[in-house]
Amino acid sequence: MDCVRTVFGVVLSGFLLSGSVCGQTDGVRSRPVTVSEEAAEIHSSGMLFDGHNDLPWEIRDKGKSSFDQLDIGREQLSLHTDIPRLRRGGLKAQFWSVYVPAETAETGDALLQTMQQIDIVRAMLRRYPETFEQASTAADVERIVKAGRVASMMGVEGGYSIEEDLANLERLYAAGCRYMTLTHSKSLSWADSATDKPRHGGLTDFGREVVREMNRLGMLVDLSHVSVETMKQALAVTKAPVIFSHSSARAICDHPRNVPDDVLPLVRENGGVIMVNFYSSFIVPTAQLKQNREAAGTIYDVVDHIDYLAKHCGVKHVGIGSDYDGVPRLPDQLESVAAYPRITQLLLERGYDRAAIHAILGGNVLRVLREAESVSATLQAAAGKQ
Ligand SMILES: [Zn+2]
Repeated sequence: MDCVRTVFGVVLSGFLLSGSVCGQTDGVRSRPVTVSEEAAEIHSSGMLFDGHNDLPWEIRDKGKSSFDQLDIGREQLSLHTDIPRLRRGGLKAQFWSVYVPAETAETGDALLQTMQQIDIVRAMLRRYPETFEQASTAADVERIVKAGRVASMMGVEGGYSIEEDLANLERLYAAGCRYMTLTHSKSLSWADSATDKPRHGGLTDFGREVVREMNRLGMLVDLSHVSVETMKQALAVTKAPVIFSHSSARAICDHPRNVPDDVLPLVRENGGVIMVNFYSSFIVPTAQLKQNREAAGTIYDVVDHIDYLAKHCGVKHVGIGSDYDGVPRLPDQLESVAAYPRITQLLLERGYDRAAIHAILGGNVLRVLREAESVSATLQAAAGKQ
């Protein structure tokens, strides 16, 4: 989720869309992408595993938490995600975000609302069993994908959901959550956010304990949304590889939500994966966004981020974390979950081979999941011997 719904935001985006200042359209970078037979085959034989999709919040917000109100079994053009389009997009596995607003940290119902979001995901799995199945482990993901269904895991977006109690982390794990983003848009009592004033210079002692407990449980530590200091300190503490479930490259687009260059070697050393966010504001620099609406970006800009991270962090450390249904603006030719195969096409055109494309689409995050499970098993076995 990277949409801040304010009156100001609505007015601003309305202004941008109606703005008369238009830049030159770069012909090559607005060329419609045609997916070749080769690219389609590589895409469908791979395992596209997206790190972040906010459909559950949209169902709450636009559909009164009900799939009767918003039946994703047919095309729903008010959403980025529905079953016909995700099938066309070749989505194989998904972390569904069980995001709740950062304000719930103050209202005291963060965990309750998170459990309600988990209920929405469960209702989706029950209602569309031929399409989705809940996965608990990496092996589960592989089995479910083989059976032709979308392997579904959940991700908690914001550490306030545990209400400062490690026991809640275990409850969320038991409910099927397999990552937690340490913060959302605001700094917490134990971790600093990328988009708020730093309160602790990174993590507090309790924040480090949260990371260690996540390692023990086998829940992935997600460093999207956190401050650079929080990234570095979490990377120093964690025994398992981390993810950035929906973040792009700061060297290309200087936004605090993106990953800066000096963190890339740490991610490589850790074995983690940065899953590229498609949101226009994280893809093209703000100055360009303000100038003209073409600068909402195109799929070519998104592939630039993937390419940059593959070259500067390593092809084993890049993934896809679209943030579909969590953002108000998307680049051209990435309008919905149907668009993913175009990314495979462009990676092929840029010289990535089959193995590299498969790694980026989902192989890397699956490896991270498997390693986190193995770290968890080792830690739990060691604790058992004491
Ligand atoms: Zn987000």
